Amino acid sequence: MGFVQFKGVTKTFGKSVAVDTMDLDIARGEFFSLLGPSGCGKSTTLRMLAGFVAPSTGSIHVHGRDITRLPPEARDIGIVFQNYAIFPHMTVFDNIAFGLVERGENRADIKRKVDAALDQVGLGGFGERFERQLSGGQKQRVALARVLVIEPEILLLDEPLSALDKKMREEMKFWIKNIQKSVGITTIYVTHDQSEALTMSDRIAVMNQGRILQVGSPVEIYERPNSRFIAEFIGESNLLSGRLTAGGVRVGDTVVPAAQAQGADGAEVALLIRPEQIRLEPVTEGEAPMLTGRVADEVYQGALRRYQVETGGQTVTVEVPNRPDLAQLPPGAEVALYWTPESGVALR
Ligand code: ATP
Repeated sequence: MGFVQFKGVTKTFGKSVAVDTMDLDIARGEFFSLLGPSGCGKSTTLRMLAGFVAPSTGSIHVHGRDITRLPPEARDIGIVFQNYAIFPHMTVFDNIAFGLVERGENRADIKRKVDAALDQVGLGGFGERFERQLSGGQKQRVALARVLVIEPEILLLDEPLSALDKKMREEMKFWIKNIQKSVGITTIYVTHDQSEALTMSDRIAVMNQGRILQVGSPVEIYERPNSRFIAEFIGESNLLSGRLTAGGVRVGDTVVPAAQAQGADGAEVALLIRPEQIRLEPVTEGEAPMLTGRVADEVYQGALRRYQVETGGQTVTVEVPNRPDLAQLPPGAEVALYWTPESGVALR
């Protein structure tokens, strides 16, 4: 049984359906992400769990207890927002102490817990600073410390990195993941950024238009998406049009092996193959390639070279690591495309 459960939860605002009959099971200690484009219902899902928004229908359970009608303060859930929400007139210490003071804990305990929380988030010695004296990353650490110090059962993070610059985001995503692991707290993370979700999560639910399309580990979501929408939303993808046939997908005159190639013979599908999964070589007599084609374009991108290859009227993007042992193939070159059979996925 899931530690956090949504059972048939729908939320409508007037005529618009923000969350549509959601069923969800999240395990204790899990780092679980809700991933999807803007407006898909991620934040509404989180707000319903926090108790800020009431579901229109359905119920939410934590540890087997129905919490649907509980007020936020009775839920034992901590939440960190994108904009930190730090009190500007209070020191870092007092910001972190806030929840403990509200609870009426004694001063010695508060001091001990706040100092421990400051150390935990790497801000030992920052207790007397004010918000204006902190960088974006430090503010986010304060916001997290303020929640962790009250030891909630569940941690909710709503786009916590989106106000940070790219370098700080990269650093913070590993940092948050490590803190979560060491504390072991059940965490639900809302993001529209696929790389954050892939890096940090134990499991991801991909949402679109209020619905969950797929739940799986980062590997499952990236390598075995169950729809074209997910294949295109997460990472770069080639989607070659083809038809199901015995043994895989027929693309032009060639039959290519593919996972998930179940269905009626002749049914239209897209063959997903990721650009980095493809090996590009000059055409030779040797091992039979998956497809052959002609280089239409080649772009240098530092760490890799990006090729556009025309094959039977379709274009395939290939990313090749920029290594001196890999031949550079000029536009016009006849090329062979190789990949392992497991890398191709048939999608409806
Ligand atoms: P974003 O990343 O842009 O915040 P999201 O995936 O978190 O998007 P939600 O904020 O949950 O999406 O919104 C889902 C849908 O519900 C959107 O169409 C939004 O306009 C609508 N919505 C959310 N809150 C309200 C509200 N209080 N009143 C009316 N409509 C709302």
